[in-house]
Amino acid sequence: VAKDHGRSRWEVYDESYRQRALHRLSVESELRVAVAREDFELHYQPIVDLRSGALVAYEALVRWRHPERGLLLPAEFIDICEESHLLPVLGRWVLREACGFVARHPEFTGQVFVNVSPRQIGAADLSRVVGDVLEQTGVGAHRLGLEITETGVLQAAGSARADLERLADLGVTLVLDDFGTGYSALSSVLAAPVTGLKLDRSFTARLGDGGAGDRISVAIAALVDSLDSYGVVEGIETEAARTHAVAHGWTHGQGWLFGRPAPEQQIYGTPAPEQQPLGRAPRGQQPLG
Ligand code: C2E
Ligand code: MG
Ligand code: MG
Ligand code: MG
Repeated sequence: VAKDHGRSRWEVYDESYRQRALHRLSVESELRVAVAREDFELHYQPIVDLRSGALVAYEALVRWRHPERGLLLPAEFIDICEESHLLPVLGRWVLREACGFVARHPEFTGQVFVNVSPRQIGAADLSRVVGDVLEQTGVGAHRLGLEITETGVLQAAGSARADLERLADLGVTLVLDDFGTGYSALSSVLAAPVTGLKLDRSFTARLGDGGAGDRISVAIAALVDSLDSYGVVEGIETEAARTHAVAHGWTHGQGWLFGRPAPEQQIYGTPAPEQQPLGRAPRGQQPLG
């Protein structure tokens, strides 16, 4: 009986494992095509000065324009992209597109922040890619920021470390993303050439409840201040959360209260006619003849 039981369970497990493996494989092959065709778009979310509400930067967040499933969030594809070594190629597109955004909108004078994963640093020569993109788009290095996870920085030894140093030398801003969720040895974080950090959204919900989260938030805000760096509280959804973040000494924030990630057209209107691809009739208009 035990044997039969075990066997049927194995079969169930085996079947779902097979399903997942098949799903992964099909997503991976679709991604390969999507990366080659650049079937992605960036949405931009404001980062603001918490006191004045002034816009200081945008974070660029990638979405996949899937032919059948619609617009997909990074959770659906970034890991698979990373495991199948497609991320450096997608990452280059993201950098070019985000710098293009800065170049296309002289009325925007802030910075644009781009997420980079550990796989893009070191072996993939991120500093060379960034240098090339800045040159091609004519955007100054001070306009670009890179968000790296704590683990990304901690793992950065040898060539990766040198890559980060070169990025800092270029004048690009480096910030730690999702701060507080990794297993950070503070000393290694402090040794990395980062000038800012983003307090993870998981802390924001607990701000103001008088518990340990509050004390951690106060301590990290003081750390940011003492390092003369840039601190952003992620995931601010309510006025109460904003008030608490300010009271804790935080200077910058991001979250639905200030704005959700939105496509470029929604922020700045439709692109000028000269920016539309040549030889194509505007949408909804029949070609003549
Ligand atoms: P992240 O860098 O921590 O980005 C913040 C995420 O929180 C975004 O999710 C954003 O839409 C969401 N968010 C912002 N404000 C709020 C809020 O007030 N409430 C709630 N509930 N959520 C909020 P998204 O766009 O799904 O991105 C998820 C993650 O995917 C990002 O986390 C980042 O780690 C990764 N990612 C996004 N774009 C890229 C990219 O171009 N390259 C790489 N390597 N990773 C990316
Ligand atoms: Mg980020
Ligand atoms: Mg984050
Ligand atoms: Mg996050």
